Amino acid sequence: MRKQIVAGNWKMNNNTLETESLIKSLAQHEIPDDVQVMVAPAFTQLSQSVSLTEAHSITVAAQNMNAADSGAHTGEVSASMLKGVGVHTIILGHSERRSLYGETDSMLQLKVQKAIAEGFQIIFCFGEELEHRKENKHFTLVEDQLSSALFDLPKTAWSQIVLAYEPVWAIGTGETASPEQAQEMHAFIRQLIENKYDADLANQIAILYGGSVKPGNAKEIFSMQDVDGGLIGGASLNAEDFMAIVNAF
Ligand code: PEP
Repeated sequence: MRKQIVAGNWKMNNNTLETESLIKSLAQHEIPDDVQVMVAPAFTQLSQSVSLTEAHSITVAAQNMNAADSGAHTGEVSASMLKGVGVHTIILGHSERRSLYGETDSMLQLKVQKAIAEGFQIIFCFGEELEHRKENKHFTLVEDQLSSALFDLPKTAWSQIVLAYEPVWAIGTGETASPEQAQEMHAFIRQLIENKYDADLANQIAILYGGSVKPGNAKEIFSMQDVDGGLIGGASLNAEDFMAIVNAF
């Protein structure tokens, strides 16, 4: 059976007090044994979050990482800095990093290679904009994003990869892809991996859906055959909502 994962992307939210309060509330809930729960705080809250989650089965992830080891990269954070505060999981390729901060497929290819070499687990985000879907180009777009960043990796590296399909038109908009739209794309992605590698690998890879997942729609989305969980933005900022999603399988 594939891993079931629910990851909360806190984005640029939660200062020190808010982080403490949210993690303490999360820690009061039971986490099902078969669900891996992750939270991705801002860089400044990573160390604090690692300490607060130590006794709980919650993984702390970073929201980004620079591909360079060190040097003149003002405002950036390296792999060894993340490892130094106990973080071994990162989100890469989030649509906000791509659209607001100019991350390109080739930059992401470098980041992925660095993160794999450094032993990180990667939640790799990708997905089409509304115009691509309207023009029926969403499958091609997703294939391009995956192949440029990931398809030159050796099969062994994929044990470190979790995929997160996030249609940009559904992020933070309240508009969710229908369960059928999510399933259609997830099945397409699995087929791409099978074509490029093999069926065994395709069946092992966890593919999360992200885009306005809430307690009210999570169960229906997670019930789809090829949906293995969710990357959650807005609803991950509230402990009750996030835990309702964690328990929606
Ligand atoms: C996200 O930013 O990854 C996301 C899915 O956000 P939201 O759940 O708020 O749509």
